[in-house]
Amino acid sequence: RAKEEGRNRFCFYTSNMNAQAVAKLDVEAALSRALERGELLLHYQPKVDGASGRIVGAEALLRWNRNGNGLVPPGHFIPIAEQSCLIQHIGAWVINEACRQIRAWLDAGLPVVRVAVNVAARQFAAGDLDQVVAGALQRHGVDPQWLEIEITEGMLITDPQGATLMLMRIKALGVKLSLDDFGTGFSSLAYLQHFPLDAVKIDQSFTRRIGEEPDGAALVDAIIALAHRLHLRVVAEGVETELQRDYLLQQGCDELQGYHFGRPAPAATLEQHLLEQTRAPLTPPPLTLT
Ligand code: C2E
Ligand code: MG
Ligand code: MG
Ligand code: MG
Repeated sequence: RAKEEGRNRFCFYTSNMNAQAVAKLDVEAALSRALERGELLLHYQPKVDGASGRIVGAEALLRWNRNGNGLVPPGHFIPIAEQSCLIQHIGAWVINEACRQIRAWLDAGLPVVRVAVNVAARQFAAGDLDQVVAGALQRHGVDPQWLEIEITEGMLITDPQGATLMLMRIKALGVKLSLDDFGTGFSSLAYLQHFPLDAVKIDQSFTRRIGEEPDGAALVDAIIALAHRLHLRVVAEGVETELQRDYLLQQGCDELQGYHFGRPAPAATLEQHLLEQTRAPLTPPPLTLT
């Protein structure tokens, strides 16, 4: 039905259609087939514990191998999928695929870390996310402790009460909740206190400013202090340099994620890293105190 709506819109605008609109509808049509064709896959990026330097989690990031021609990043197709019900199907696929992967690791006797999946606004607003999550966990016999859901501030703004209920239902399953891209939305600081969250992710735009300008780290400091005061874990995104890493560790940031520790990569790459760290003895974190 959503596809049909899309087609109608397409017809309506045909006369003054620009290249961008054509590209968009092209993507929409191809994306609706991508699921059936098995063209979607998840990459995993490690989240490293600040205290031990060990991988303690991974974020699942969606990729689309369009026509087998290479990977399309989510920024190019998630916004388009969000404009139709496609996002619900894709979103459910992502949650199911993460659970399938966790089950495969458990069955193979491999080390497992908690996997965080992103959800889209429209997927969250649909009202059945808790059921989708519960269904996927049950289907694969996965303990909820292995799953985390990353939401963004924007999802909480329109209907804070409805959002609270949904988050409580997801949390009641035993699944962790984190607030992604924190500081980039327009939510009130009070949101941090009123929603049942476990962690806050410092957006990479803030991490990037560490060491770049005199007060570049001011927001990072403030977010860490606020989150800790509210008993929330803090995860920094987009950690690319040693300087950023050391600064964040000194400030007591709980977990770090970014190219410095590992890029998003196929499940096999994460497996390798987890196996290596299982064999390696515990090493102190590479913290350079100044
Ligand atoms: P996000 O959830 O904030 O994910 C972090 C993004 O930052 C990822 O981009 C990741 O590859 C990138 N990143 C990680 N470390 C670094 C770094 O050190 N430097 C830089 N410059 N970038 C880094 P990606 O994979 O392109 O995903 C972009 C966004 O797409 C995600 O942002 C998330 O909002 C969305 N997304 C990804 N997968 C899904 C999904 O399965 N469902 C939904 N609804 N959205 C998704
Ligand atoms: Mg995320
Ligand atoms: Mg983010
Ligand atoms: Mg984002």
